[in-house]
Amino acid sequence: MDPLIARRHMVKEQLEARGIDDPRVLAAFLEVPRHKFVEEYLKYKAHEDYPLSIGYGQTISQPYMVALMTQSLRPEPEDKILEIGTGSGYQAAILSRLCRVVYSVERISALASRARKTLDELGYYNVHVRLGDGSQGLSKEGPYDGIVVTAGAPHVPGILVSQLAVNGRLIIPVGSETLQELKRITRTKEGVQEESLGGCRFVKLIGKNGWDS
Ligand code: SAM
Repeated sequence: MDPLIARRHMVKEQLEARGIDDPRVLAAFLEVPRHKFVEEYLKYKAHEDYPLSIGYGQTISQPYMVALMTQSLRPEPEDKILEIGTGSGYQAAILSRLCRVVYSVERISALASRARKTLDELGYYNVHVRLGDGSQGLSKEGPYDGIVVTAGAPHVPGILVSQLAVNGRLIIPVGSETLQELKRITRTKEGVQEESLGGCRFVKLIGKNGWDS
């Protein structure tokens, strides 16, 4: 199937049908060529309603999960965003269409290099991929209007909350190694506000403020 037609189906049947309704978010999913973020042998499955392997035991998340996290982040055009877990670079690419600048941290060097190459080839120059342990955030470039963690953590790392600007939002899956709850933590002038966005299943956040490798 033509990739644009596949993306239209994906947006209508997987995102709109499940309540994703921010027009900017839907437009970003129509624009970003998801098939460019998966390996050649999986391209025919790129728009399916599930995660796919990207090698090294990691995955590109299900389109709906990427959309739910993106919409829940409430992205604004002037925002500076931090993503933890670059993986294929797809979530970062979506965010790059919605925000001013995206920093994305990945701990696996081969994935960081491949994502950088894909993002450069597509001309998404406002994404900066960094290699390192994102469970510690990226204090040098903060504070951030939004932080999205695309791997499951055992708890909310306080250091990530501390790198949020006032009114900044942190989207993070928190729970056990196999099942988590997606949370939105909003930093306010008075403190923090926490909301639950439902159940989810992510690969592990590995690092100082995550799981042991
Ligand atoms: N956002 C990605 C995408 O759009 O393809 C999917 C991310 S995948 C579900 C989770 C990623 O988090 C993996 O690439 C994994 O290597 C990375 N990861 C796990 N722990 C990390 C850490 N402490 N710092 C940075 N990346 C980490």
